[in-house]
Amino acid sequence: MKRAVVILFAAGLALPPALSAQKAPAQRQDSAYTAKIHEYLQDPRITTELVDHLPASSTVPTPLKFLGRIVGTPGELTHARDIHRYMEAIAKAAPNRARFWTIGKTEEGRDMVLLAIADEQTIKQLDRYKGMLNALTDPRKTSEADAQRLLHTAKPVYYITSGIHSPEFGGPEMLMELAYRLVVEETPLIQNIRNNVITLITPVVEVDGREKAVDTYYWNKKYRQTVGQLPLMYWGKYVQHDNNRDGMGQYLDLTKNITRVTLDWTPTILHDLHEAVTYLYASTGTGPYNEQIDPITIDEWWMLAKNDVMEMTKRGVPGVWTYGFYDGWVPNYLFFIAHTHNAVGRFYEVQSYGPDNYEVKPPVTTTSREWFRPNPPLPYIKWGARNNTNIQESAILFALNHVAKNKEMYLENYWLKNKRAVAKGATGPIYGWVIPAVQHAKQNAAEAVNDLRRQGLEFDVATSAFTAGKVQIKPGDYIVRGDQPYRTIADMYFALQNFSPANPAPYDDTGWTFPLMRNLTVLEATDKSLLNAPMKKVTADVTAPGGITGSGSVIVVDNTSDNNLVTFRFRLASVKMQAAEDEFEADGHHFSPGAFVIADANRAQVVPVLRQLGLSGYAMASVPSVKTHDLDVPRIGYVHSWTRTQDEGWVRAALDHYGVPYAYFGEPKLKEGNLRAKYDVIIWPHGGTPNGAPNAGGFGGGRGAAADSGKPAPNVPIPYRRTAEFQALGYPDSTDDIRGAVGADGYKALYEFIQQGGTLITEGSTAAILPQMKLTPGVSFEDPATLFARGTILRGVITDRRSPLVYGYDRGEVPVYFNAGPVLNAGAGAPPPVEVAGAPAAPNGGQAARPAARPQGQNTTPMATQLKLSPWDPEHTGEGYGMLPSTDSAAGRGGRGGASGGGGGGFGGNFTAQPVPGLTADPAARTRVVMQFPANPADMLLSGTLEGGQTLVNRAQLVDEAIGQGHVVMFAIRPFWRWQTQGTFAMGFNAILNWNDLDAGRAGKTTTDR
Ligand SMILES: [Zn+2]
Repeated sequence: MKRAVVILFAAGLALPPALSAQKAPAQRQDSAYTAKIHEYLQDPRITTELVDHLPASSTVPTPLKFLGRIVGTPGELTHARDIHRYMEAIAKAAPNRARFWTIGKTEEGRDMVLLAIADEQTIKQLDRYKGMLNALTDPRKTSEADAQRLLHTAKPVYYITSGIHSPEFGGPEMLMELAYRLVVEETPLIQNIRNNVITLITPVVEVDGREKAVDTYYWNKKYRQTVGQLPLMYWGKYVQHDNNRDGMGQYLDLTKNITRVTLDWTPTILHDLHEAVTYLYASTGTGPYNEQIDPITIDEWWMLAKNDVMEMTKRGVPGVWTYGFYDGWVPNYLFFIAHTHNAVGRFYEVQSYGPDNYEVKPPVTTTSREWFRPNPPLPYIKWGARNNTNIQESAILFALNHVAKNKEMYLENYWLKNKRAVAKGATGPIYGWVIPAVQHAKQNAAEAVNDLRRQGLEFDVATSAFTAGKVQIKPGDYIVRGDQPYRTIADMYFALQNFSPANPAPYDDTGWTFPLMRNLTVLEATDKSLLNAPMKKVTADVTAPGGITGSGSVIVVDNTSDNNLVTFRFRLASVKMQAAEDEFEADGHHFSPGAFVIADANRAQVVPVLRQLGLSGYAMASVPSVKTHDLDVPRIGYVHSWTRTQDEGWVRAALDHYGVPYAYFGEPKLKEGNLRAKYDVIIWPHGGTPNGAPNAGGFGGGRGAAADSGKPAPNVPIPYRRTAEFQALGYPDSTDDIRGAVGADGYKALYEFIQQGGTLITEGSTAAILPQMKLTPGVSFEDPATLFARGTILRGVITDRRSPLVYGYDRGEVPVYFNAGPVLNAGAGAPPPVEVAGAPAAPNGGQAARPAARPQGQNTTPMATQLKLSPWDPEHTGEGYGMLPSTDSAAGRGGRGGASGGGGGGFGGNFTAQPVPGLTADPAARTRVVMQFPANPADMLLSGTLEGGQTLVNRAQLVDEAIGQGHVVMFAIRPFWRWQTQGTFAMGFNAILNWNDLDAGRAGKTTTDR
């Protein structure tokens, strides 16, 4: 058989693909594999001629030969390490058609991999083909004539990724069979793909999570009946489902690795495989579409999706559809990495793999025949792993074939999009951006430059002073030229968002403006002369100029809200430092409240750290005469829920990145008590368990057992531990028993910890828990039914500038990220709850009846309705950030969208925590509102969406409640959101650094006290 294959290859080389295919003799089939395909398929309608068989090969092992089972075998799953071994085996067996390499490591040290597949002559010259696509990326280097030639010779790269969502099992399994088929099969369609497209496959993006998910599946198979159901506790080290919302922030290694592949290969199409709908959804989204996406891309989305829907519908496969899922707005998804680089990103959602067979009985809203769903899913079907494999493998083969047939169109579109991006540098209105190097938080600015460079945005640094229109450029300032192809990144990230509530409900965040989220000064250059400024390329990571000036044994480090200040403190943990409680002048410098004062400093120890961290110190002879308190390094406890580990990881990521050590433990440990002896600070992020919540008892262990046997769950501990058999489990935390949450005893212990002088830091949903339990007399929880504020950027007004929580913030305002709630009323001028007329009021602050779904009938032009954004103009120059050209247009407003969207995000605090009997509030508690929403709703919205702003008037964003000897810090905003809100990280760090001096600067008797 080996010889026969070789002959076929030769034929394929010598003749045009269509002709060679006609002449190709029928290929020998793998009858054992094919028989298993038919045996495992649960419904004969879920197949096509592309996947109802598997060709044989004498050289390349099938999944059956390699793994001992076919792809789509019920009740079995494959670890990422074995999927990777299989992909490598294909490349070894067919080096002329496939190449395999690793693309980076995960947080837990596992490999991410890539398999490239194409025909022999392409694989032989893979780097040459890569170079052609790179050339089509950059019109600055490639002439039009060269590009026109390349459009005929280059081949599009179709990059398939999967397994980012760990319980979505099927994509990685299917991709093994797809890879085999693409390498081995000799049908005209497969040859067409192989000859005209370079297929790249990363079968598992979240490798750490895949290993945990597969181990968890097999653990449950073994122990579910006798112990109970073990949920998938963690995916990667930090977050679960949010791992595909890291496209902008790019903190996770998986995102960085995929981005590196993107920059290296400049893929034409990036296709991410998921499992969340019935039976296969090819993405277009409902809109509104991100306003910086090239219009060509929107057409490509539709063309690709309709191709797949049509080909599957032609073959009578039900339930393949498009449009009615997801929007297309926020650029935080993994596949949006393609859009920020002028390519096209898309995704599938497929009916779950299982792997155990099951039945699907969708509601009529899923089975109705609609314009976007010409052949809808059935009211009932038997489903299984092979159904999942067949449907997505077929669809993606049709997609690959479509791109192979239309390769010149996709390449031309790609070239055109890159040209249009560069041309914006000639036509404006934005010719580039300037990030002043010397600005309040200069190291935060430098880190922003590095983060954006890593995504491919090119930076220059000004080599001398220059004026471009209204923008004054100083030497050292960072310049983003507007005439580069990847300016799309800046266009997308730096723009203001105006999301009309008349739109379909947003799927995720509505606002993300980078300069606002990072609280940085970024200037838009609307004068073309910017491009003539003297400048040179930034070729390596930058650090703000740091170090020390002056002489003397006292060193003062100004507090600039640079996040590296917390690194500085913890790296020099043994050095005594104080924080100034007021602003002061010393040695001709003005210092802000919170400046670090190191008396008797060891210069040789301090200076290198300052330099490395981009911070500036001033040496002086004597300690300045300003009131100070010690910056005592705290022992930090970090609490996570065992029922929801999705959200807390972003906070952990910030602590890890900036070198803040902590002890990490689950909620049930709180009830052991004696917390003050162990910790000074306890951090309890969003996702913590409210008292009395349905999941407060943790996973009772009954779900699996009860479902399988009808018997009650065995009342035994459920461990989450690494074992020889289940090596991926037990990380990043482990326990002998995942059951239980905080519990009454835990809440009592937590409250005692505060009373005894500890500081509890809460954010998002956990900030609502103590107010709901009536343990913070000055702060009450509200749940306004008419508020619509999905993942949006609102104005924060600092109301107590002497609070240590806002040390380093030089202005009275800060842009903050707020996501639906919680709404905290802590006095400070907040009126009683108001409700917009006509909407049902929230009953007693409990779960509010949300407004009815949006008005009947489709609003086909919702984006014609513009909200009035409030300009971000903290320097009061009269020219708000990003307000040119004006977004202040139509005054009319359409109807509003639903209050909650589809996927992740949302406040998630819709359960009201119940009081614990015997645990009552300390009547002497004092409330200090540090930051709040503006008094006028018209001043609130900076970027994103907002409706019902009246319900936020003077509501607290950051509250410090003093209880006994300690404090509860409540962030109603999300200071550490998805590695995007670097502008508010410092408030969280301030709470840590000043944990036992939070009363500093407190007015003797303030109006906020109750
Ligand atoms: Zn998914």
